Amino acid sequence: MIIVIKREATQEIIDHVIEKIKGAGLAVHISKGKERTIIGAIGDESRLASISLEALPGVESVMPIMKPYKLVSREFRKESSVIDVEGVRIGDTAFQVIAGPCSVESKESLIDCARKVKESGARILRGGAFKPRTSPYDFQGLGVEGLKLLAEAKKATGLPIISELMDPRDTEIVCEYVDIVQIGARNMQNFRLLTEVGKSGKPVLLKRGLSATIKEFLMSAEYIAAQGNTQIILCERGIRTFETATRNTLDISAVPVLKEETHLPVFIDPSHAVGRWGLVTPLARAAVAVGADGLMIEVHPDPENALCDGAQSLKPTKFARLMDEVRKVAASVGRTL
Ligand code: PEP
Ligand code: MN
Repeated sequence: MIIVIKREATQEIIDHVIEKIKGAGLAVHISKGKERTIIGAIGDESRLASISLEALPGVESVMPIMKPYKLVSREFRKESSVIDVEGVRIGDTAFQVIAGPCSVESKESLIDCARKVKESGARILRGGAFKPRTSPYDFQGLGVEGLKLLAEAKKATGLPIISELMDPRDTEIVCEYVDIVQIGARNMQNFRLLTEVGKSGKPVLLKRGLSATIKEFLMSAEYIAAQGNTQIILCERGIRTFETATRNTLDISAVPVLKEETHLPVFIDPSHAVGRWGLVTPLARAAVAVGADGLMIEVHPDPENALCDGAQSLKPTKFARLMDEVRKVAASVGRTL
């Protein structure tokens, strides 16, 4: 931790700051320049958490050296984490694709969709049962019935399943059915929910919040990891910017930044990023080129009549073409698909 002292601070004030740091069990290194004094606090920075250093008289600014996230950081674990979901290895050399409808609507359309995305090379089936909708009057999902249909689709195709958990009270029932628990963008900072999925021990796909910084994103992952569950997949799904041409703005640079900062696998969801099916494929190609470990794509057999996110959903034939395109890029960066 580096503490910059105000120009006008007296020696008495500086000594008080030093005392506080030493009192927390850290050593100090003092650098007295012509203009100002800088104090380096050496030792376990977490011990300073209970002291509000910024509030001490004479302190101008405080700069932590250590990252606030620990368990999910690359400093903590050098090798990239690989998460095994029913034999599907996420974060390994194989590029993995999660596909399926935004929401589970009926048994027939879900199984039809599952079979088709599997044929094209998707390895995990998605489908929302509890839907986070902006309007309370929109389709809210089939709830537990939707989870049951996902389980039937898994039985019919062998594809592991992922679905969103919105409420801590549903943790047990959602975990009973799904292979990966999805935490949606709107709940990225629902700390109770993060703690519950952490405790569940299930693999989690954590989506980046609509206006979350990368640091906040990683702090949310840290909440899950702090409960002993490090089976976390991070998913960049577009953030809110001034741009209105697309639903959100895909932060493609988040992928290499995250890869540097954390050992966790990183996915991209281009469907929610752009909001228009015609733009999904170019972003999917970019995802594999930039180093993402996989994709989450919305696919619907009949997008025109989809109950949710039809505009950004690909028909299965279009999804098959996307997979061909992504496969070519994957080969050029040494990844299989
Ligand atoms: C979804 O995946 O259907 C979804 C609601 O995504 P997000 O949380 O990224 O908006
Ligand atoms: Mn959706």
